[in-house]
Amino acid sequence: MQRRKFVSGAAAAAAGAGLAACATGNTQSGARTPFAVKASYIPIAGSDELYPVRRIYCIGRNYRAHSIEMGSNPDREPPFFFQKPTDAIQYVAVGTTADHPYPTLTKNYHYEVELVAAIGKGGRNIPAAQALDHVYGYTLGLDMTRRDLQRAMGDEKKPWEIGKSFDHSAVLGPIHRAPQIGHFDKGQIWLKVNGQTKQDADLSMMIWSVAEQIANLSQANELFPGDIIYSGTPDKVGPVVRGDVIEIHIDRLPNLSVKIV
Ligand code: MN
Repeated sequence: MQRRKFVSGAAAAAAGAGLAACATGNTQSGARTPFAVKASYIPIAGSDELYPVRRIYCIGRNYRAHSIEMGSNPDREPPFFFQKPTDAIQYVAVGTTADHPYPTLTKNYHYEVELVAAIGKGGRNIPAAQALDHVYGYTLGLDMTRRDLQRAMGDEKKPWEIGKSFDHSAVLGPIHRAPQIGHFDKGQIWLKVNGQTKQDADLSMMIWSVAEQIANLSQANELFPGDIIYSGTPDKVGPVVRGDVIEIHIDRLPNLSVKIV
């Protein structure tokens, strides 16, 4: 993997002022850093290039039936987003079954199969009609969730970070470039555990399309190349335990599978 080449302005300024005396890395401006920090990349299908990840956004409750099963009213809710850290990515190569570690602190570990859109062109206040021009490509992924902790924090009106934003919680496959694979406004999306179908829906059932998600999100934050968006899960989310094998599918993308260990 490539070494990280960017640091924040503050870190670069500190390095420039001689505060990073024992540097082992290098910033874009050539200043050294006291240690190297790994950046996050996703392989691009059919290419030797890697897609560099800047932010991971996830939309919440974007399928009617899932919204209802989570206790919400899908008719009254504007879209909302949360983030996962980029180093939470677990990349799974096509044709492999990756070991996925059962996380600490939870007794109710849930799968959520989702379409993932990767931004290639940034912007603010992007109109929905032009939003798909900003998509670099797509993959499929799992928004793994410590459901018990998510619910407990929500009940206490605390941030649900610990339920959603933890190590290995952003499972995904290679990015397929939009000019080759096209866009995804419909198509079957399913998830099986040990060969049994658990989630089964159609992308056309999303409340907010990928284009509408980009339009909405770009009002809250300027989007940049490297931002990826998990587009929400259908209903019938549920638990897995160690030894279970999860397989996920979206029409036109290669399946992805992991084993919980
Ligand atoms: Mn989700």
